[in-house]
Amino acid sequence: MPSNDALSSLRAYLAPIVDLDRAAAVLHWDQRTYMPPGGASARADQLATLSRLKHELAIAPALEELLDAAHETAVEDEDRRLIQVARRDFGRARRLPAELVAELSHARSIGNEVWAEARACRDWSLVVPSLARIVDLVRSVAEHAGYPEHPYDALLDDYEPGMTTAQVSRLFDDLKRDLVPLVQQMAPRSTEGDDACLRRQFDPSEQLAFGLSIARAWGFDLERGRQDQTLHPFCTAFGPDDVRITTRISAEFLSSALFGTLHETGHALYEQGIPRHLARSPLGQAASLGVHESQSRLWEHLVGRSRTFWERNYAELQRAFPAQLGRISTDTFYRAINTVKPTCIRVEADELTYNLHIFLRFELELALIEGRLDAADIPGAWNQGMVDLLGIVPPDDALGALQDVHWGSGLFGYFPTYTIGNVLSVQLWEAAQADDPLVRDEISSGQYGRLLQWLREHVHRHGRQYLPAELVVLATGRELKAEPYLHYLRTKFGALYDGASTIP
Ligand code: ZN
Repeated sequence: MPSNDALSSLRAYLAPIVDLDRAAAVLHWDQRTYMPPGGASARADQLATLSRLKHELAIAPALEELLDAAHETAVEDEDRRLIQVARRDFGRARRLPAELVAELSHARSIGNEVWAEARACRDWSLVVPSLARIVDLVRSVAEHAGYPEHPYDALLDDYEPGMTTAQVSRLFDDLKRDLVPLVQQMAPRSTEGDDACLRRQFDPSEQLAFGLSIARAWGFDLERGRQDQTLHPFCTAFGPDDVRITTRISAEFLSSALFGTLHETGHALYEQGIPRHLARSPLGQAASLGVHESQSRLWEHLVGRSRTFWERNYAELQRAFPAQLGRISTDTFYRAINTVKPTCIRVEADELTYNLHIFLRFELELALIEGRLDAADIPGAWNQGMVDLLGIVPPDDALGALQDVHWGSGLFGYFPTYTIGNVLSVQLWEAAQADDPLVRDEISSGQYGRLLQWLREHVHRHGRQYLPAELVVLATGRELKAEPYLHYLRTKFGALYDGASTIP
């Protein structure tokens, strides 16, 4: 193949933009793991500098010229997609005035600080002025970025490219219709003691070691990744050959570190599966946050909370914690890790109630963006929504509207990606099994290579070459639908709480 100068020049231009992003990711990772508190101010300056340098490169007229020249000569599919994606990024960055970007970034750092203080004081009124300001700025971002129908489309586009507000609303309505009654039916059947066996003293280093042993068995390569501890667990990648997961250990509750690790491992396997030749290209990233979350949920829930998995691995966990779990049966443990119980806190929610938390956030942020709801009125609307969806009222705003910092950080359009990931995880899981019926057999014998191989082939290797909706059809043969996910939940929790294989 003759070398293509225009394409090579475009790639050479784009690579340092990716480098700056990765360098910022290293600084963020350090900030959230090892940085002493005194480092905060210098770190903010360093991150702001990287972000400014990146923005300058990302909107330079030289980039537009390179894109035009490369467009003339690209023949390979992957090259065409690179140009498409880079043009989309360029267009969006160019449409946002530099002053607006700077103002929003400033408002976000203030928003973050104020949010932490308000949560500590359990006082919503403290965030109202900064949140109102952020909402104004975010609406202005939407107007500049442009959108097909709804300003919220422009915000979603940052996290779930191509997906519209109308599509999210339809999907959520389909889910809500079944999930709300299902939760009402299931929740009363769980009892206070269902997860008691997980609430004992568990040695932190044993917890870390066990979680990591599962991560390795699933395929997390420690030559190209590592695990550290943090307050709010996350996964980040500095390229496919350096992927970091973080875990929060609670000595009193086994679930948080165990399933947190399994969740972040799902994210990490995706990052390690991005092809090396895309590492310094805009294509060398996940297709979207929803697709990313589908990977973490697939490994955490469909593998990690399944009976098949624990029938194989529970004895090993008992050996790690003989005093705590030695007399607890596999069945009791399986039920404990799948207890359905409405809770005020999203990140502590079980598989069944989790999405209800997302529906509430989606409704409220849509109302904020549309101007139907004022920042001051959120706690009232929040508490009413909790009653309608989950039948509980948060005792205070720290356990209510202040629990997630997303809005204070200016992240609007982000919450729906969690539920999109849940729904997609089941659709991918079913497609993998339809393609390779041995996937489940292999898991029951403690092997995970077939499942990982399927995900590598159908999701990971594409990086960001396709829009999420295109990727879903490519991988599963159909567009994203609520039904497979609902069927999975009905079957799993029906069997758990009714002893029947399904409930109506
Ligand atoms: Zn996640």
